[in-house]
Amino acid sequence: MTLQTVLDDIRKRPGTGEVIPVIDPVTEEQITEFTDCGEEVVNDAVARAKASFESGVWHGLPARERAKVMWRIADLMDQHADELAGLDSLNTGMPMAQANMIVPTCAEFFRYYAGWCTKLNGNAYEVQMEGGVSGAYANMHAYTRKEPYSVVGLIFPWNGPVFNACAKLAPALAAGCSSVVKPAEETPLSALVLEKIIAEAGVPDGVVNLLTGYGHTAGAAITAHPDVKKVAFTGSTEVGKEIVRASAGNLKKVMLELGGKSPVLIYDDADLNMAITMAAMGIFVHSGQGCVCGSRIFVQRSVYDQVVEGIAMVANNLQLGGPKEEGSVIGPLISQKQLTRVMGFIDEGKKDGVEVVTGGHRLDRKGYFVHPTVLTNVDRGMRLYQQEIFGPVVTILPFDDDDEAVALANDTSYGLAATVWTTNLARAHNLAKRLEAGTVTLNCQLVFDHNVPFGGYKQSGWGHEFGREGVEAYMQTKSVWAQL
Ligand code: NAD
Repeated sequence: MTLQTVLDDIRKRPGTGEVIPVIDPVTEEQITEFTDCGEEVVNDAVARAKASFESGVWHGLPARERAKVMWRIADLMDQHADELAGLDSLNTGMPMAQANMIVPTCAEFFRYYAGWCTKLNGNAYEVQMEGGVSGAYANMHAYTRKEPYSVVGLIFPWNGPVFNACAKLAPALAAGCSSVVKPAEETPLSALVLEKIIAEAGVPDGVVNLLTGYGHTAGAAITAHPDVKKVAFTGSTEVGKEIVRASAGNLKKVMLELGGKSPVLIYDDADLNMAITMAAMGIFVHSGQGCVCGSRIFVQRSVYDQVVEGIAMVANNLQLGGPKEEGSVIGPLISQKQLTRVMGFIDEGKKDGVEVVTGGHRLDRKGYFVHPTVLTNVDRGMRLYQQEIFGPVVTILPFDDDDEAVALANDTSYGLAATVWTTNLARAHNLAKRLEAGTVTLNCQLVFDHNVPFGGYKQSGWGHEFGREGVEAYMQTKSVWAQL
């Protein structure tokens, strides 16, 4: 599909008539627009998904056949990689190099989960009890089956449109589920290409149903729908809580990948050059719009000044700009709304006396660009210290010993990720035990693999994506008993 076809096609999608503009965050100009699909279109999509599940066109296929189709999706994604990367880059403002790096990883989700299709077995059990109501327990056989959740709702945010879509679609398809899929209203473009690829690869009609609309309309209708048996959601903790409330109607199952306020501990024995560079990139990459961004850095007091200075220097050397601007490594924030939110945190902090080591302002140009910002002299009660900002803003505080570092790191309602930089291996692994986070990285940051489970502790989520857990999240376990 050419860019123009995508921009035209999205205008033709059915809906309520309420127009949603798609804005280029680099130029602040409208790229295209579409109509909010609204509840009626959601209901139709769920009905199609349900019919496809009941007919068995997908989950009823031999697992190896589903796997072949998933490999074809990955191959087609590779063929259309430039297009997908170009759309995500245009839609989010991320540098082309970054989008080009991410899209092949997204295709791999389908290859990785294609491998799982043929391995989703239950277990056989020895029955231990004797007697029982029938008086004949001794000669019984029990086993479990893994069965797909029929129709699932997949809802995700704007920060990595192709990535977020594939992270959910690939395991849902491997499990045999039919789905309704809602990308963020800010970034629906690449999903249209994915929709075409999925159909071309041979996924039968009705198995994957794309919905383009707002969260409070389309998203809420998916979450409340009685025929949607599970919602897999990535987004903010605030909306995650709304989803849990809305799911109560049919007690649908919910998987949540939510926000973070991830700590990074830097010790004086660390490889400081590496720690400084990675800790800076770990917050400023993608303008801080990554769930695992390390937005709270804690530094052992003896090297505190050196690390603050180093991170500020990296921040000052990062070139901001749009994907077409030569040399740019950091793009803009996604929207005016996000810009206002991020600047609100910074301005409030300034009033409350934080020290702005560098940044603290938007760029004097078109586009939602905020200078990478380093804040010190931060009070732990401040809103900017407690809440997820999802922008290029980091606070840096000193600590003296392990106990203080752990207490500072765990003093948050979030628990998505944590990082330790030290050459003392015993300390690193002891801290990995004590840190309250679903992912702990030791002497590395921004790492990911399709095979390694990812999920949040505390208010950062429920359940896991990636790995075996990631596909089992789309399946339920049935126990079967047989009298022999
Ligand atoms: P958001 O919660 O506002 O929106 C996410 C998605 O939910 C969008 O598609 C939106 O339309 C939809 N939505 C909004 N209200 C809804 C409702 N009432 N019912 C159903 N759906 C609704 O999040 P955002 O601002 O788009 O994204 C940023 C957030 O996502 C950050 O908090 C970030 O940490 C989080 N995130 C988490 C992960 C992770 O894996 N843990 C990954 C990426 C982003």
